[in-house]
Amino acid sequence: RVKTKWAGSRPKVPATDLALQHFDATYGLQLGDLWPSVRIGMLSEKKYGALLNNFASDSDIVSSFHSQGCRDFISAARSTESQDPELHDHTAAPLSSNIQCFVFPRGDVSRFKPARPDSNGLLSYYLLDAASVLPALALDVQPGHSVLDLCAGPGGKTLALLQAQAVRFLWANDLSGSRTARLRRTLQSYLPRELLTEDRVYITSSDGRQWRNKDEHKFDKVLVDVPCTTDRHSLTEEDNNIFKRSRTKERQRLPLLQMELLLAGIQATRPGGDVLYSTCSLSQLQNQCVVEQAVSVAQKEMDITVKVQNLSSFVQLFSHTFHFAPQPAVGELVLPHLCANFGPIYMCKLQRIS
Ligand code: SAM
Repeated sequence: RVKTKWAGSRPKVPATDLALQHFDATYGLQLGDLWPSVRIGMLSEKKYGALLNNFASDSDIVSSFHSQGCRDFISAARSTESQDPELHDHTAAPLSSNIQCFVFPRGDVSRFKPARPDSNGLLSYYLLDAASVLPALALDVQPGHSVLDLCAGPGGKTLALLQAQAVRFLWANDLSGSRTARLRRTLQSYLPRELLTEDRVYITSSDGRQWRNKDEHKFDKVLVDVPCTTDRHSLTEEDNNIFKRSRTKERQRLPLLQMELLLAGIQATRPGGDVLYSTCSLSQLQNQCVVEQAVSVAQKEMDITVKVQNLSSFVQLFSHTFHFAPQPAVGELVLPHLCANFGPIYMCKLQRIS
């Protein structure tokens, strides 16, 4: 009885405070001198990008963005690349991409207005963290490719992948029924009906880990954008916060779930194809440790060889728009910063060799 009374009167620490304590302890060590500025960035309002909908027909939208002082950070990177031949190599994926994402200049914290529908009812742009377009760009989808988006809800990156206008077939999956429903609604608001047939875009709601048993489907490109501690959300929102004490076990099990999802993604990739692993966390345990572990398990237990791809020239192309962490051992990490308050986004590209 005494214990019950104690438990009832124990002060309830907000999950956002628990998240901050946890991050101060772990990221303070991991990021050292960089942590105070990343911390301020994450506690401040995040910056959006406007992913242009290539399927909508609002012809004024680009000039309207330009008149507001925005620029497409991908074509800006492309012009940097054309001026610097040293940046030309096969990892410079955005050259061949139709994806356009507009951002306000560094230090400008203006907000975008909500998108309006065109004459066909399609919305002209989608607001998202501009850094979350990077995994879709780095995946470098080419005409005719088949793509699996293993954890796709609510659909920002699926939409970005489709904006490349190169995908032959896309399979978008998410465990959560409500998130899959949201993804479906999003795609309906942005894509013409003829693209939403099951032979072009196929949507399922199942446990991505079960992909290991679907041997008949192999994809050219696979995106594994796993559930994670969603660091920015955990610092600012009580709702659905994974740092609630009741969710401690779920949080501690995340790296295992992430590794199993990455292994399933690797198995779903054809030899020669690419897998892109991404999170919106700064955590080394959820980022490079998961990748290293999955690469090792794939080799030892599945006889699958995967090779980490070097994204350094890709990162160099976009370094005018985003702050990247200085050379993490495996993968690349966008760090939030007050002047460019995008991210965090971690990404690592792997090629399946055999
Ligand atoms: N890619 C999405 C986007 O850009 O909008 C965000 C994905 S979110 C970071 C991670 C997603 O993984 C959540 O929607 C969650 O429902 C889903 N998820 C969690 N466990 C899963 C599992 N075992 N299999 C498939 N999806 C899972």
